[in-house]
Amino acid sequence: MSNFVSIILCRNCGSRCVEIPGWIETGNAIIHCHTCGNHKELSGFTLGRARITNAELQNARDTAARMGASEK
Ligand SMILES: [Zn+2]
Repeated sequence: MSNFVSIILCRNCGSRCVEIPGWIETGNAIIHCHTCGNHKELSGFTLGRARITNAELQNARDTAARMGASEK
């Protein structure tokens, strides 16, 4: 049985190297891209880690939501 997961990719550079290095007083997470330094506040979500194949990672990149096109 396989499990379907969603991953967060940096919208600035496409990197998968995204983490939450800390939280702010409002309870929102700070989300940070190690590749390009993109740094934003994230409300209402968090991250989890899982090992996936390169093919699965590429599929996630190919189906990533973009402005004007949603992913479900
Ligand atoms: Zn980035």
